Amino acid sequence: MTPPLLSVRNLSKTYPNGVRALKGVNLEVQSGEFLVIIGLSGSGKSTLLRCLNRLHEPTSGQILFQGEDVGQLQKSDGIRQLRKNIGMIFQHFNLIPRQSVLKNVLMGQLAEKSTWQSFFGLFSDEDKKEALQNLKLVGIADKALQRADHLSGGQKQRVAIARALTQKPKLILADEPVSSLDPATSHAVMDYLKKINQELGITVIANLHFLSLVRKYATRVVALKDGEIVFTGRPEEITEEWFHRIYGEDAHDIS
Ligand code: ADP
Repeated sequence: MTPPLLSVRNLSKTYPNGVRALKGVNLEVQSGEFLVIIGLSGSGKSTLLRCLNRLHEPTSGQILFQGEDVGQLQKSDGIRQLRKNIGMIFQHFNLIPRQSVLKNVLMGQLAEKSTWQSFFGLFSDEDKKEALQNLKLVGIADKALQRADHLSGGQKQRVAIARALTQKPKLILADEPVSSLDPATSHAVMDYLKKINQELGITVIANLHFLSLVRKYATRVVALKDGEIVFTGRPEEITEEWFHRIYGEDAHDIS
């Protein structure tokens, strides 16, 4: 069997205020998976994603990405390379509002630039061509010269996907990528994530709220409860009984 893209071993995270957000999480992710993390608000989903690319520092445990110990990477070069290989998409898009869509997408290439190139915002015609191609892939190339803050939420998230693609990542982490969007737009954005997963072979790990989306897009599901994994399996294995174990007895599936 091929070694996993990602191995998480006994990962724990306690915040300085004493909250134990992760308690000994073990997880392996194979290349090509579309893994969805579910669980109640506060169960540790976002903390887990952010430990994977060292936006948060774990308290203990180990993360291996492509066999390399993420915890041993030095600030600057090592972490820069890690974040180039792991793209991230956020609930609130994290675009630069007054810059053009194209400029936002080009920002995804900064990890490959020298400090002075980044400082002067130097991008070659080749860079721009590639950024446009990625915008085309998410169906939004016609908006390249518009300001990012003039776009709708769904369009902004598609720009964020194009920006992540520009890094040529192996893995994309999507932290509640559709929580700010209406249901129809959510499906459109998820369809693009699925497309890049299937057509470009980029592994995706996403936190999602709605089980209808989980069932449609996930190849595998992990459920967190109070910082621990309580379920791992295929989406169709989330029976009503599991649903209540994950979300609590009083929960209703509003999908
Ligand atoms: P989820 O993504 O499932 O909603 P989080 O990972 O955001 O869960 O949060 C897990 C727990 O850690 C919660 O109790 C939350 O309040 C706490 N938490 C998250 N971020 C911080 C932080 N920066 N400082 C202190 N506590 C935090």
